[in-house]
Amino acid sequence: MRKKFVVGNWKMFTTAAAGAQLAAAVVQGVGKADRVTVAVCPPFPYLARVAEVVRGTPIGLGGQNLYPEKEGAFTGEVSPTMLVDVGCRYVIVGHSERRHKLGEDDAFINRKVKAGLAAGLQVILCIGETLEERKGNRTEAVLDRQLTAGLAGVTADVLGGVVIAYEPVWAIGTGHNATPEQAQEAHTFVRRRVGQLCGEAAAAALLIQYGGSVKADNAASLLSQPDVDGALVGGASLKADDFLAIVRAGVR
Ligand code: PEP
Repeated sequence: MRKKFVVGNWKMFTTAAAGAQLAAAVVQGVGKADRVTVAVCPPFPYLARVAEVVRGTPIGLGGQNLYPEKEGAFTGEVSPTMLVDVGCRYVIVGHSERRHKLGEDDAFINRKVKAGLAAGLQVILCIGETLEERKGNRTEAVLDRQLTAGLAGVTADVLGGVVIAYEPVWAIGTGHNATPEQAQEAHTFVRRRVGQLCGEAAAAALLIQYGGSVKADNAASLLSQPDVDGALVGGASLKADDFLAIVRAGVR
């Protein structure tokens, strides 16, 4: 039985004070509940502050990105070991905003996946097609390419450190979520493809989150799909009540 995993991606929002307040509200709202795994991913400058708030609670902490080297002359970048050092258990890589707005390619993202795993982080690898690709019936080809390249060199024994977030680009921040059926169809494909790449047993245990305009009112139907193992939540994770409603939908 795969445990649902709900993650808040705060993107480039909040302030130090607002982030700490939001994290405290999430901690309080989730309580001791252990039927859903919950994590928040604040902007880098607020990680240490939020780490203090979530320390000793069931709420995990994640980075929104990493640079795939331990240290070095990479001005402005953050290494996986730094994320671990500041209290992160998770890291998001390959987010569509980084792929499409910052030009990150599959090979670079693969380096990030491997660097995150090597540092002991749980890596949330985001994949997803654009609207044009979906309209052109290329969804599966795109997911295939992103999985094959993103997971190159990742073997079954370390796949437990990977979570896939299926995030159709056309659904992110647009208010137009994939239907539960579209999400289930894509997740089925992802699990099958990962099975071919890393073995069926590892793929059966793999957590596949859906992301893209998940809100309090659509979370239950999305999360009730058999292969939707959680949600990566952007906009709705910035309001504690909305985020907690999505977590509660995962409990059901
Ligand atoms: C995201 O940032 O990963 C995301 C899914 O954003 P939103 O929930 O706002 O669509």
